[in-house]
Amino acid sequence: TYNFCAGPAMLPAEVMQQAQAEFINWQQHGCSVMELSHRSKAFMAVAEQAEQDLRDLLCIPDHYKVLFMHGGGRGQFSAVPLNLLSQTGEADYLVSGSWSQAAAEEAAKFGRIRSLDIRQRVGELRSLQHPSEWALNPKADYVHFCPNETVDGLEFTDLPDTEVPLVADLSSTILSRPIDVSRFGLIYAGAQKNIGPSGLTLVIVREDLLERAANKAIPAIMDYALTAKNDSMFNTPPTFAWYLAGLVFQWLKQQGGLDAMAKHNQTKAERLYQYIDRSAFYRNDVDPAVRSWMNVPFMLADDALNDRFVKEAEVAGLLALKGHRLVGGMRASIYNAMPLAGVDALIAFMQDFERSHG
Ligand code: PLP
Repeated sequence: TYNFCAGPAMLPAEVMQQAQAEFINWQQHGCSVMELSHRSKAFMAVAEQAEQDLRDLLCIPDHYKVLFMHGGGRGQFSAVPLNLLSQTGEADYLVSGSWSQAAAEEAAKFGRIRSLDIRQRVGELRSLQHPSEWALNPKADYVHFCPNETVDGLEFTDLPDTEVPLVADLSSTILSRPIDVSRFGLIYAGAQKNIGPSGLTLVIVREDLLERAANKAIPAIMDYALTAKNDSMFNTPPTFAWYLAGLVFQWLKQQGGLDAMAKHNQTKAERLYQYIDRSAFYRNDVDPAVRSWMNVPFMLADDALNDRFVKEAEVAGLLALKGHRLVGGMRASIYNAMPLAGVDALIAFMQDFERSHG
């Protein structure tokens, strides 16, 4: 089977096999890795190796901390304003889709948040550069944006043009292609797409932003400075998810790193979009300039066929193609773990379905 789900864990088959093989007796320790104390030498080595592999993959500069936290993407929707709003308490949020909107709504509980909504203008802008009638606030503590909108199937590869720190929700695109970490103040990502199981949350933060918070009453498990001081072990971390993330990072290195992943992901996405664009039966409404490599929503010519499509796809071994409830239709999430053969199998199924129902 091929699983086109958007989470809560899309692990490469090789990683699943390795985890299964060493599940009960990890490296001859006589117990599972998840039963080891997080402060044991053995687990500390797993944790440190995972961080080093991530640093290698993303070329993370030394003056950035890597934090392994709890709480997922939405946890960060709260943690970011709690930690980064300073005395002025102002931040700009670029709203390009559902997730950036949700982030802005949560942040508004904590500060003076300005939402700059580009949702109606994506086709015209094709970028995260703000339209000329907006000026990004030069006094803002940060500008928040979401480069890959998982629900809407939009992906922006340029960055907002500003001197203030950029904060990006990379939950559904991290590790799918190289990025220049030094351009960002903070990057966060829920693990469940390209990293590991849900719950685990990565934060990559420039050190000078760690002590910015005006609000000193940050819940301890959301506190970046405290988390950094304790090497992400202030409380019991999600150790099994951390270990699995480490296996995924090693797998990514074996695949040739992020340049190789970018080629692989581009090939998969282009093949699927090309097929959809040539077909009169399926359509994708996203402007080609900002189509996501990771999440491909598509509609059938007749909505009445949606349930049948999902059911027949499942019988053919193609899982979880039902679209997000906000968008409808279908959605194929094709994260790093999805092989090209999975995309080919989907296209072959779509052709058959069109032939019999079109
Ligand atoms: N941000 C993005 C871009 C997402 O795709 C998601 C979930 O899919 C979230 C945030 C929310 O993540 P979580 O469910 O871990 O809170």
